[in-house]
Amino acid sequence: MLGLLRTGLPVLRAAAGPQLQARSSQHDASAHARLLLSQLFQPLNLQVGGVAGCEGQAAELGCRSHRLMLQGGLIHPASPGCYHLLPPAVRSMEKLIRLIDGAMRNIGGQKVNMPSLSSAELWRTSGRWEQMGPELFRLADRHGKEYCLGPTHEEAVTELVAAHSNLSYRQLPLRLYQVTRKFRDEPKPRFGLLRSREFYMKDMYTFDASEEAARHTYELVCTAYRSLFKRLGLRCVQVRAATGTIGGTASHEFQLPADIGEDRLVLCPAGHFAANVEMVDEKQTACPACGEKLTQSRGIEVGHTFYLGTKYSSVHNAAFYTPENKLQLAEMGCYGLGVTRILAASIEVLSTEDSIRWPSLIAPYQVCFIPPKKGSREERGAALLERLYDDVAEALPRLAGDVVLDDRTQMTIGKRLKDANKLGYPYVVVAGRRVCEDPPVFEVWDQSSGTVLYLTKEGVIELLSKVQLP
Ligand SMILES: [Zn+2]
Repeated sequence: MLGLLRTGLPVLRAAAGPQLQARSSQHDASAHARLLLSQLFQPLNLQVGGVAGCEGQAAELGCRSHRLMLQGGLIHPASPGCYHLLPPAVRSMEKLIRLIDGAMRNIGGQKVNMPSLSSAELWRTSGRWEQMGPELFRLADRHGKEYCLGPTHEEAVTELVAAHSNLSYRQLPLRLYQVTRKFRDEPKPRFGLLRSREFYMKDMYTFDASEEAARHTYELVCTAYRSLFKRLGLRCVQVRAATGTIGGTASHEFQLPADIGEDRLVLCPAGHFAANVEMVDEKQTACPACGEKLTQSRGIEVGHTFYLGTKYSSVHNAAFYTPENKLQLAEMGCYGLGVTRILAASIEVLSTEDSIRWPSLIAPYQVCFIPPKKGSREERGAALLERLYDDVAEALPRLAGDVVLDDRTQMTIGKRLKDANKLGYPYVVVAGRRVCEDPPVFEVWDQSSGTVLYLTKEGVIELLSKVQLP
């Protein structure tokens, strides 16, 4: 079932005729750099109802993003709640991480990378070794020393900062973040990457000199989160939330409204009020600001912010020197974004029942080229389309790696166009009937507007020059 779509890559080259072969030998380097769909490690299983791999009952796939990600060759199940991320998913995730890095840099974030193995001692100091219960993956080394696989890093980062005993007020605010794998022993992992046991998270930890400064940091990060989701074209609501095992005194969740979501939200239709249902008194049915009846919605939590105060800095003694040269505990905040969860959640909310739709900025590939079927009347268009592919690569080198050539020329254009639509490339370029005109005219399918454009080579390059990459 998982057979890769190997069709033999010489087909196109052989069909291309003497003119193209001459060009290929002159431009060997660019010819070899073509990204051929038949060579990508993306086990497609796009038939309706078809699901790659051995994943259990149909009920477990009751979620659109999970099914589409399996069918589109983005993920492959490894063990319950754990997935291989296949090359297109990794490309998308790396783009998302570049966006997140930019957003964190804009607010003075400095990137670190802390170990996944975290000593039990550290967690006992904060009291969370017991408090976390069975959600913590625990293990012991050969000397019997206990560890957990970090689900979050408040203890680790606070100890790290505390170890720098000469921290000065001049170094504050200090905003450290990382994008790493996190682990949680979910009782019921489900919905693919939406609730898995191993996942990527961006977690930022901030240290400020006063409560006022820490509140300012809190607002900055929330604003950065809102603009990140806006750039991705995702509707996101910021709701008041409980602080749970992280602790602290204020907290917000960033939720993508979706029926499959596991959180229940209470919202004012005019946007004055938004909270997780667990924060709302059941008698409260009207907006405290405008009196309008509150509505309920389900949401997927993709981000969470906490104002921590000195909860962790007091335990690990993370202190700084004030201008008066006195030691004072830092005021902390912590800020998470579920990286792999954002990938799945955006597919969940943007896709149709059988076709993946990406936030176009983080689509794994931006463009798919579809040459004519071998033996068809337009076959000589194959050479023209290949040449266009090479011209695009030469004119727009920043798109290198983002342009796929669907070389499965034993299939009709229509079938491959259908597949391309299911995989959600933002642009699809086809050598259709008008490719034989002089000059050749190509069909360009624009996914975001759902329109087809008929463009010459110059027109295609002009259009694709506007493609945004993170
Ligand atoms: Zn209101």
